[in-house]
Amino acid sequence: MMVLMKKELFVCDDCGERKRLSSMERHFCENPTHNRAVEMRPSRVKKPTPAKSPKPD
Ligand SMILES: [Zn+2]
Repeated sequence: MMVLMKKELFVCDDCGERKRLSSMERHFCENPTHNRAVEMRPSRVKKPTPAKSPKPD
């Protein structure tokens, strides 16, 4: 059985890097200007805005 690797656009909020990567995995920005690991978010996921984020209840 052939497994399709679903890919989607991931964005680094820190430097703006964009890459198409497997949506099944988590990805960290490889930009060497970061001195810490920055996780990239899928572009379909809105950047979290703490003031407006609705609480699930
Ligand atoms: Zn970055």
